[in-house]
Amino acid sequence: MREFNGKSVCHGTAYGRAFVVKKADVSVERKKIEDIEYEIKRIEYAKEKASRDLEQLYKKAVKEVGEANAAIFQIHEMLMEDADFLEAIYRMIRTERVNAEYAVAVIGNYFSNMFAGMEDDYMKAREIDIKDISNRLVRNLQGYESKEFAMKDPVIIVAEDLTPSETVQLDKEKILAFVTVHGSTNSHTAILARMMNIPAVIGVPLELDTIQPDTLLIVDGSEGKVIFDPAEDVRRQAEEKIRQEKERLQLLQMQKGQENITLDGRKINIYANIGNVSDVRYVLENDAGGIGLFRSEFLYLGKKDFPTEEEQFNAYRQVVQMMAGKPVIIRTLDLGADKQVDYLKIGCEENPALGCRAIRICLKRPDIFKPQLRALLRAAAYGNLYIMYPMITSVEEVKRIYEIIEEVKAELDKEEISYKMPKQGIMIETPAAVMISDELAKMVDFFSIGTNDLTQYTLALDRQNESLDEFYNTHHTAVLKMVQIVTENAHKEGIWVGICGELGADMSLTEKFVKMGIDEISVVPSMVLKLRKQIREMRIES
Ligand code: PEP
Ligand code: MG
Repeated sequence: MREFNGKSVCHGTAYGRAFVVKKADVSVERKKIEDIEYEIKRIEYAKEKASRDLEQLYKKAVKEVGEANAAIFQIHEMLMEDADFLEAIYRMIRTERVNAEYAVAVIGNYFSNMFAGMEDDYMKAREIDIKDISNRLVRNLQGYESKEFAMKDPVIIVAEDLTPSETVQLDKEKILAFVTVHGSTNSHTAILARMMNIPAVIGVPLELDTIQPDTLLIVDGSEGKVIFDPAEDVRRQAEEKIRQEKERLQLLQMQKGQENITLDGRKINIYANIGNVSDVRYVLENDAGGIGLFRSEFLYLGKKDFPTEEEQFNAYRQVVQMMAGKPVIIRTLDLGADKQVDYLKIGCEENPALGCRAIRICLKRPDIFKPQLRALLRAAAYGNLYIMYPMITSVEEVKRIYEIIEEVKAELDKEEISYKMPKQGIMIETPAAVMISDELAKMVDFFSIGTNDLTQYTLALDRQNESLDEFYNTHHTAVLKMVQIVTENAHKEGIWVGICGELGADMSLTEKFVKMGIDEISVVPSMVLKLRKQIREMRIES
C-alpha cells in the first residue's frame, strides 16, 4: 500500500483501476538540411493539418464541456499563429540549417519554459498549452496520426498532466477520477472535473513509470489523498464511503421538486451560477430555481474579437428559453483583472484588480457596452431575464448606466426592433458599494453580493495569489458584517438581496445567512440540492 497527498480540486471518493496516460514519444533528431524553403513549407502543411484537427476538437469540446471551456482550442490556434513563435522557428531553420521538427521542438520548449517561469498562475498554466501545440506540430511533421485513448471499463486516469486535447479525447462516461502529478486549479482537467463533479486530486508526487497498468487505487477527492494497492480494510472503508456518497446523492435526488423552506417556514431562492449556454444542462439537472449569475464575459474570452450583438442575443435568448420562465440573471461583462482579452487592449496595469475592469470598461467604452445591452434587452422579450452590473462603487455609475440604457432603448425604438426592459440589479462586491448600499438600494431592483471580490477588496488581499491562502479568511467578521449591513439596507427599501460569490456554497454559513435575511443564494449547480436539504432541515427562530 502506498499513500500520496495532493491538492483536491473536486470532492468525492473513487476506487478502481489506474489508466496511466503516457505521453506519446515526440523525441526528435537534429538533422542538417540543404533546402531551407522546403522545411518551411513542411511547417506550413503541419500547421494546416493542426488547424483542421483543432477545429474538430473544438466542436467536440463545445458539445461536451461548453463553449467557454472549448475556447482553449481557439487559443491554441492563436498561439500556433503567434508571430514571435513562428519567427523564432523560421530563424532557427535558416541560421542553423536544421530540420523543421527539431526547430519546432526546441523553440516550443523554450516558449513553454518561459510561460512556466511567469508569476501569474493563469499564464503559468499555459505552459502545457504550448507543449500541446509544439507536440502536435512535431507529430504532424513526423507523419503520426493522433490516437484516441481506448478505455473499455471505467478507470481512474493517472497522468503527469493532461493537455486540453487529451482531456477532450477521453470518454467521460469511463472516468471514475483524475490524478495528476502537475497541474493547477486553473488547469483544464480541474475545470472539467469540477463541472462534471468527478473526484480529482492534482499535484500528486508520483513516478508514473513505477505504476503498473491496472493497479488498484483509491482517490479521496475530499482529503486530497491517493492510495495505491490499498490494504483490505482501507479498501473496505473506501467502498463504504463511496456507497454512502452514492446514497447521499440518491437521497439528494428526493430534494428535486421540493421547496427551499426552513422547518419554521422561511423561504429562500436557490439559483445556480453558469459561464456559458451549455451549463444550463447542469442547472436543470440539479433543479435550481433559476440562474443567479451568468458570467457573460465567458462569451468574450478566448476569441479574436468581441462577440457581435447577434451572437450575444442568440446566447442569452437560448438560456432564457431553456429556463422556461425561471429567472435568469445575466451579469454584464466583467472583463479585466484575471479575465483578459487581447483585443480589448487594456494594456499593462500595475494593479489589474484595481484597474480597468467590469463596469469601468463599459462606461469608458459605450461602443462595447451598447451591443451587449441591446442583445440583453432583445433577449428579455423571450423569457424572465434580469440584468446585473458588476463592480459598482458609486451612485454616479448607476446614473450613467441608466443614461446609456435610455440611449439604447431610443435606438431600438427608432429601428423598430422589439425588446423588453428587464429588471436591473447590481453586484455588491466593493466596500464602497456596501457603505452606500442605503442609497444604491433606492436605485435598483435587487442586490447580489459578490463575496469573492468583496473579500479581496475588504481584506486588501489578491484573490489570485495562492501563497496568501492562509490570510484569505472567508469567514472574516468584516465580510460577514458587510453582508448583514447590505441585507438590512436592501430590505429597508423593499428590494431583495442574494449572494452569488463562493461563500454562498459554504454550508457552515448557510444558517447565518438565512437568519440575516438573505433572500437568494446562487451556487455551482452541483451544490443546489445539498443546500436545499440543509435549508429544509433548519429552524431559524430560536
Ligand atoms: C464575486 O466576486 O463574488 C463574483 C461572484 O464574481 P466573480 O467571481 O466572477 O468575480
Ligand atoms: Mg466579482
